[in-house]
Amino acid sequence: MSQSLLSIQDLNVAIDRIPILRNVNMEVPKGAMVGLIGRNGAGKTTLIRSIMGLMPVDAKKLEVNGENLVNVASHGRATRGISYLPEDRRLIPSLTVEENVLLPSWANGIKDSAERLQWIYSLMPEVKEFRDRRALQLSGGQQKLVALARALMPGRTLLLLDEPFEGVAPVLSRRLTEVIATLRSTGMSIILSESDDTHSADLVDRVFRIERGVVTAG
Ligand code: ATP
Repeated sequence: MSQSLLSIQDLNVAIDRIPILRNVNMEVPKGAMVGLIGRNGAGKTTLIRSIMGLMPVDAKKLEVNGENLVNVASHGRATRGISYLPEDRRLIPSLTVEENVLLPSWANGIKDSAERLQWIYSLMPEVKEFRDRRALQLSGGQQKLVALARALMPGRTLLLLDEPFEGVAPVLSRRLTEVIATLRSTGMSIILSESDDTHSADLVDRVFRIERGVVTAG
């Protein structure tokens, strides 16, 4: 049996007492890429934010590498190598690309940030090329790559990609696909959400479907 990197058991999330996620159970094997497919409003973002520690949850178990993280705050999860690419890019427009990529290292005191930056630049040479431009000077798709670069700064264990292809033009979608496939080949575990499986079908090892807060293995 493959070892789980992420193991979730009986996870429930309610907002203003309205149940948003119901009894979610999910296993992500080490090094696997899984799709999380569901329509708008199904609960994908809420589940991803719950894994990142950005939502109050009720769960029997939310383990990464065998450690229960239910009571660990988001920065503690980041230092354990969990990283998150939000659906909206949230770059700081007036900062340069490199400053945006380095932001998590300032916030979390990452010691090997120079080495990580070089690794990110080798993965995405175009981000290195843009490094002195201000984020606001980039196209939406380019900003997505920079946001992914920034997400990779703190950690390389589990990468949470919330609808990464949404609103990205075809050329950059292909490039994003390549980068995600390369990340996967480094052994990183990845959860990739999408409203349908247009981009994820060829990338993922298995699919979880989510509908009205209920997750089923597909
Ligand atoms: P989308 O792609 O539209 O973001 P999603 O699958 O990521 O869809 P979520 O954003 O997780 O879905 O939302 C799941 C449900 O929770 C939706 O019905 C949404 O209206 C509700 N919801 C999310 N955040 C809140 C909030 N802060 N207050 C009230 N309801 C919320």
